[in-house]
Amino acid sequence: MDPFADTLQRLREAFSSGRTRPAEFRAAQLNGLSRFLRENKQLLLEALAQDLHKSAFEAEVSEISISQNEINLALRNLRAWMKDEKVSKNLATQLDSAFIRKEPFGLVLILSPWNYPLNLSLGPLVGALAAGNCVVLKPSEISKNTEKVLAEVLPGYLDQSCFAVVLGGPQETGRLLEHKFDYIFFTGNPQVGKIVMTAAAKHLTPVTLELGGKNPCYVDDNCDPETVANRVAFFRCFNAGQTCVAPDYVLCSPEMQTRLVPALQSAITRFYGDDPQSSPNLGRIINEKHFQRLRGLLSCGRVAIGGQSDESDLYIAPTVLVDVQETEPVMQEEIFGPILPIVNVRSLGQAIDFINRREKPLALYVFSKSSQVVKRVLAQTSSGGFCGNDGFMHLTLASLPFGGVGSSGMGNYHGRFSFDTFSHHRACLLRPPGLEKIYAIRYPPHTPRNLRV
Ligand code: NAD
Repeated sequence: MDPFADTLQRLREAFSSGRTRPAEFRAAQLNGLSRFLRENKQLLLEALAQDLHKSAFEAEVSEISISQNEINLALRNLRAWMKDEKVSKNLATQLDSAFIRKEPFGLVLILSPWNYPLNLSLGPLVGALAAGNCVVLKPSEISKNTEKVLAEVLPGYLDQSCFAVVLGGPQETGRLLEHKFDYIFFTGNPQVGKIVMTAAAKHLTPVTLELGGKNPCYVDDNCDPETVANRVAFFRCFNAGQTCVAPDYVLCSPEMQTRLVPALQSAITRFYGDDPQSSPNLGRIINEKHFQRLRGLLSCGRVAIGGQSDESDLYIAPTVLVDVQETEPVMQEEIFGPILPIVNVRSLGQAIDFINRREKPLALYVFSKSSQVVKRVLAQTSSGGFCGNDGFMHLTLASLPFGGVGSSGMGNYHGRFSFDTFSHHRACLLRPPGLEKIYAIRYPPHTPRNLRV
């Protein structure tokens, strides 16, 4: 018995009926999403607090407002985005009409992760619905309180012949992926990304893969350590470090490390108090498995700040590790927790080499008072996104595409990029039915006269 067959059949029929295509229908779905956020805000805040001990501030800025902004932008621009895009023509097509039509793919699958379980479900959903698709959303089974709200409440705000939430972990998702979709949008870790892409390849289904990795953070000697420490500590500890674009490790000289560590200690104490475990502003690790994995990483290098953990509370203290070697476990995998290793480099060139001999990251951060240094790192490295002198502020701009490169992902979204991701760009040329005398010049038999044209 296939648990998904009936749902998928229903959505396919709805798409074939053409009802998702008019702008009015798309706008109604986006308005439904907006009402869902407004009317269930308290429920969502509670679910996020239960899943991740997410503070109201973090939930507001990184889950609710960011999703609401995407909806508002799509509603404001929907008709403009849907318009055929006229293109330039050559001599042979002067009398034709040539344009790109953005048409929906059809049935879209969105697979989302647990770390921003609302935003990373609704963000792609806005683009998929705005583009006129039918959508199956499979939220993460790990953030189970948010999953429950998405499964039980969200469908009531959307047209249920065109939208469904399905549930399941790896095994069920494996079965779901045996079906043919017209587009798959996946956010998660690179290993699972390979499973998704392999399944998609069987049907030649296009994919967007929003993956993770280790995001370097280079700190130049000329920096003000207090400012850098505030910014790095804030973005490293946001959502208890469980952020795909968090600065994963610092590269700096031993001299800068000596100045940075006390500044980091002071920033962490200001943010979370002398006992961060009792702070309402610090999140928790999502589950036991990730807690154990992170606790194992605390033995790398030497603990300069923090290092405490409490299994009963899934608590890992904001931690800074120094004297970390490139070969240690903490430098092999994405940390995804409030642990910041510092690796020493002797020069900017050495930092750039270090970054370039590893997989291309999702984000890269450079702190320097010299714009030459920032520009050099930008020019000589590659990453999904880049931010000079701060953490992941670049992703707050819907005018910038958000996505990875290499092992941190493929494709992108946010704002108009989401609409484009979920639209097939159909190349169209409409020729007048007559004027055959003009076009006859291309037909055989070919003579030297044809070639002169
Ligand atoms: P994950 O890959 O374990 O899970 C993502 C989704 O895939 C979930 O819905 C899950 O149920 C499903 N899944 C898990 N294992 C599967 C399998 N074997 N077969 C089929 N489906 C499977 O990711 P996660 O642990 O939820 O999230 C953390 C990862 O996601 C990190 O690597 C992080 O960097 C990355 N991430 C990336 C972004 C981004 O925008 N690039 C955003 C958030 C998280």
